[in-house]
Amino acid sequence: MTQSGMHRFFFLLGKPASGKGTQIRRILDTFKGSSFSTGDALKYHIARRTELGQQVKAFIDAGKLVSDDIVMALFRDSAEHLGDTTIGESTLFLVDGFPRTVGQYEMVKRYLVEKKIPHSFLYFSVADDHILRRFTGRLTCNTCFTPFSTIGGTVAENDACPQCKKGKLIRRSDDNETVVRNRLAEYRAATAPMVEHITAHEKGNFTEIESSRSEDEIFNDVRMLLTNAKISLKKR
Ligand SMILES: [Zn+2]
Repeated sequence: MTQSGMHRFFFLLGKPASGKGTQIRRILDTFKGSSFSTGDALKYHIARRTELGQQVKAFIDAGKLVSDDIVMALFRDSAEHLGDTTIGESTLFLVDGFPRTVGQYEMVKRYLVEKKIPHSFLYFSVADDHILRRFTGRLTCNTCFTPFSTIGGTVAENDACPQCKKGKLIRRSDDNETVVRNRLAEYRAATAPMVEHITAHEKGNFTEIESSRSEDEIFNDVRMLLTNAKISLKKR
């Protein structure tokens, strides 16, 4: 019997702009836990000039994609620095945008089994045309980087940020159709086959969430799932 509580890993899968970012923010507002994304981990290690950061920088300077081994090392590093939870509590570790390929999935799966880490996969499913519509209506705060959607008409470009009240809502330069189409094509080539693979291999651990609905409807499903998984609520 272990003295501390436990972390349950939730891997969030889905196309670019499938609404994962918004859901992660809402999940962490409600439930106890923390999150990992490859992009944030890369920035963290480069800024602190860690050994991993130096290796990452060598890839970037050579104009190469960071290798699967390095992405896996970034993930392990975050997973191993989670710290202890309160006794009896179940805490979330949300993993965003990783794994991206069948090869990465197999690496991470070996690790989870070896460390006996409880885990689930959450797939946010949404059609390409819906994403293209949503993406062109996406605004980001230039100060706290919270994403907002113009769909529904509650916010517009150049509005003050409703979250931090300091920043201004801007359209990010990569929020254009060509970039989105390219990212969707990349997803189709590398990540869609992995999602199919996971669907087949993780039957009890895999949940598909229909994500062309409103943020609230999606979050209701997510909340029910996390409540059923007995994840502790954040104390207010
Ligand atoms: Zn803000």
